[in-house]
Amino acid sequence: MLTGRMMDFPLTLTHFLERARTYFARSEIVSRNPDKSLHRYTYADFYRRTCQLAHALTKLGVKPGDRVATLSWNHYRHLEVYFGVPAMGAVMHTLNLRLHPTDLGYIARHAEDQVVVVDRSLLPLLEKFRGAVPSLKHVIVVPDDGPVPEGMLDYEQLLLPEPPHFDFPRLDENSAAALCYTSGTTGNPKGVLYSHRSTVLHTLVCCLPEVLGLREADTVLPVVPMFHAAAWGLPFDCVATGAKIVFPGPHLDPQSLLDLMAEEKVTIAGGVPTIWLGILALLDREPKRWDLHAMRTMVIGGSAAPPSLIDGFRKRHDLEVLHAWGMTEMNPLGTLARLKGDLHHASAEAQLAANASQGFPVPFVETRHVSDTGEVLPWDNATMGELEVRGPWVAASYFSNEGGDRFSADGWFKTGDVVTIDPEGYLHITDRSKDVIKSGGEWISSVALENALMSHPAVLEAAVFAGRHARWDERPLAAVVFKQGQQATKEELAAHLEALVTKWWLPDDYLFISQIPRTSTGKFLKTKLREDYGDHLLKTPGASPTRS
Ligand code: ADP
Repeated sequence: MLTGRMMDFPLTLTHFLERARTYFARSEIVSRNPDKSLHRYTYADFYRRTCQLAHALTKLGVKPGDRVATLSWNHYRHLEVYFGVPAMGAVMHTLNLRLHPTDLGYIARHAEDQVVVVDRSLLPLLEKFRGAVPSLKHVIVVPDDGPVPEGMLDYEQLLLPEPPHFDFPRLDENSAAALCYTSGTTGNPKGVLYSHRSTVLHTLVCCLPEVLGLREADTVLPVVPMFHAAAWGLPFDCVATGAKIVFPGPHLDPQSLLDLMAEEKVTIAGGVPTIWLGILALLDREPKRWDLHAMRTMVIGGSAAPPSLIDGFRKRHDLEVLHAWGMTEMNPLGTLARLKGDLHHASAEAQLAANASQGFPVPFVETRHVSDTGEVLPWDNATMGELEVRGPWVAASYFSNEGGDRFSADGWFKTGDVVTIDPEGYLHITDRSKDVIKSGGEWISSVALENALMSHPAVLEAAVFAGRHARWDERPLAAVVFKQGQQATKEELAAHLEALVTKWWLPDDYLFISQIPRTSTGKFLKTKLREDYGDHLLKTPGASPTRS
C-alpha cells in the first residue's frame, strides 16, 4: 500500500468548540427557563463557561474516560456539559428523565457515573435512585427553578471562581465522547458509547445540503430532548456551524413551542411525530395566530411520520417536513426521506409517498435487509425483512458487551426493524419486529394501519397493536384518540380504512381512549396497550364491525 501523505489530525468535538469561539462568538443561544422567561447569551459566553466547567470538574477529580451524567431538560447549561465534558476527555452520559427511577438507577450504576449534573427541578427524581448508584461521588445542582439547597454543589458557584480558558488536551479521535442508553423496551437498557470521531463525522454529514442543510444563518430548535440520542446530534451541528440555538427547557406543549418558533424566527426544528401532531392540530384551530415564515424544515423522526401529517403541514400551512429514521445505536441518523431523480418531477402523490417513507441512507450509512435465515433480500418494494446497517457511526458493540446477538458475523448491526426496500433504495418501515401483528401466519403492518387511520379528519392519534385471537393467534386492534370536539363511529373508521388497506388487515375492533400511552422518548407504548387490552378480543368475541 502507498500511504497518503496527509496530516493525522484528530476528528474531535474540541475543534468545533474552539471554532465556535473563534468565528461565531456573537451567535446566540436562547433557553426557556421553567418560569417561561428567556435566558440569552452568546457563543463567547458559552465557550467561557464551558472552560470554567472543565476546570471545576477537574478540581472535583474527573479524569479522562470518567462518566459525567446529566439529568436535565434542553438548556444552555446542558450544552456546556455536552462540550466541556467530552473536550476534557471524559464522557457525557445523558440520563432520560422520563424513565422510571428503577431503570435510571440501573443505568447510572451500569454506566458507573461518577458525577451527575442535575436540574434543581429534577432533584426529587434523582433522590429516588441516587442510593442505587455507588459510583456517584458528586451531585452538581443546576439552579433552574430556584436556589440550590444548602450543602449541595451549586453549578453556578462552582463555575464562578474558575478562569475563562482551559487547555483542552489533544484527544485520540477514537476516544469515547458520550454515552446514551437505549430505552430497553426489549430487555435491559443497553449503553451506546459514541466516539469523538463518530460524532464529528455524523455532524459533518448532518450539515450537508442534501441532509439537514444546517448553516450559520439558521436558528435551530431541538425539541427532541438532549437525553434522547443526543437530541439527534442537533447541538453538535449548531456549534459546528455557528447557528443560533433555541432550547425549549421543560415547556414542550404546542403553544409554547409555536410561540418560540415565531418569536425567535426558528428555521429548523426537530422532534418526534407526537409533538408535531399536537402542533398541527393547534395550527389547524388557529391558523393565523403565529407567523412561521422563517421556518425552513421541520425534522420528524423517532417513529413513523404519518403521510397525513406531512401533507397537512404542507397543504394547510405551507410548512416543509423532513422525515428521518435513526436509532440510538447510530449516533442516531440513518436515512432521510428526500426526493431524488425522477421524483422531483413526479405527481404530488408520488412525492408525498416518498417523503413519508423512511427515505434512503445518508452518506456513510449502508443498508440491507435479510430474511429469518440471514439471506439478503431483493430491493423490490415488496419483500419484508429485518433491516441491517453499517457505517462509521453505527455501534460495533454495546458498552459492557451485552446484546452480542444484534451484531452479524459479517459486520452489520441488526436494527430489529422490519422493512421493504424499493429499487431506488427508499426504505419503508412496516414495523418494529416486536410490534408486527402475526395473523394466521401472515404479517400485518401496524404502521400502515396507523398512517391510514391518522388520515381520517377526526383522528388525532392512532396506535395499532396485536390483540390475542382464538382463531388467528393475533388480530389488529386500534386505539384511537379523536381531535378536540370531533368523533367518528367504528363503522366510519372501518369504511375509511377499507379504501386504503387490504380488507383482511382491518382492525377487529377500535378502542376510543383519551390518550395513547407513551414511551420515555415519546413513542406509542404498545407493550402497555397489549397489557391493558391484549385480551379484549377474547373477552368480546364478535366485537368487530367488519369481520366475524
Ligand atoms: P427507543 O425507541 O428504543 O427509545 P431509539 O430512539 O433509538 O430508541 O429508537 C429507534 C427505533 O425507532 C428504530 O429502530 C425504529 O423502530 C424507530 N424509528 C425511528 N425513526 C423512525 C421513523 N422515521 N419511522 C419509523 N420508525 C422509526
